[in-house]
Amino acid sequence: MEEKVLIFGHKNPDTDSICSSLVHEILDKKNGWDTKAVRLGNINKETQYVLDYLGIEAPELIEQVEEGQKVLLVDHNEFNQSVEGIQKAKILGVTDHHRIANFETAEPLYYNAKPYGCTSTILFEEFKRLGHEIEKKEAILMASSIISDTLLLKSPTTTEHDKKALEELGEIANIDIEKYGLEMLKAGTDLDDFSEEELINLDAKSLDKNGTKFVIAQVNTVSIEDVLKRQEKLEKAINSEIEKNGLSLFVLAITDILNSNSEVIALGSMANSVEKAFDKKLENNRVFLEGVVSRKKQLLPVIDKNI
Ligand code: MN
Ligand code: MN
Repeated sequence: MEEKVLIFGHKNPDTDSICSSLVHEILDKKNGWDTKAVRLGNINKETQYVLDYLGIEAPELIEQVEEGQKVLLVDHNEFNQSVEGIQKAKILGVTDHHRIANFETAEPLYYNAKPYGCTSTILFEEFKRLGHEIEKKEAILMASSIISDTLLLKSPTTTEHDKKALEELGEIANIDIEKYGLEMLKAGTDLDDFSEEELINLDAKSLDKNGTKFVIAQVNTVSIEDVLKRQEKLEKAINSEIEKNGLSLFVLAITDILNSNSEVIALGSMANSVEKAFDKKLENNRVFLEGVVSRKKQLLPVIDKNI
């Protein structure tokens, strides 16, 4: 078993999961604790842009944890989004900005939950609370998380806390947030060399409602039309995912990050829950949702309610 306390975000890690794990480790070192950031999946292109910008390595990949392994979770809490073996790990703490579900521990823990737009905003406030100086590296890591999760503060999940944090982090890092942010987001929309199977799993969240299993996946793009050229193959990949994992519903949100809209593909025996959620008919298994960019706030709650 790994001696050190391991820090990780969710499976199919996004920029917040990777960067917040790294920032958590930096913060822990400042507090005198020897922890280690790891990751539960491949680095996406957006996150790779951040790591390259800073010239740093990705955290080590882990597949599972052994019984009794001490862990800290960031950017998630639901066990079905976490590492294999999480049920028998010793969870020392959670820093998260999602609903709490499918989560329980045998022992007391630190649980830092805030309904902010990003985990890194919570960590930013921890630096402040503890009186630690924020250096350029962690400023860029946290800024990148906030830009990613809030789509440059345009997502309805954005709070005043995120705005304030990003402004200050931009000053510390001495970067033009708009310019850096757009470059970073665009790096993540290069989907050409992904197969359809990879594409639908890039940012997929597995969910469970009283035993009904469903997935809400999301891809960011600057052209919904471009992604829809692959609809037929995407549907084939989605249907095999449904069959393989016994899913009742698979939702793929194709989100236009420039215009803040999404086209949603919904398949599975409960695809009509998407119709009920938005009071719109699926046509060709698709529906256009104007102004919808946030899975957490605009997709998951309404779909979940209709399952
Ligand atoms: Mn995340
Ligand atoms: Mn997040």
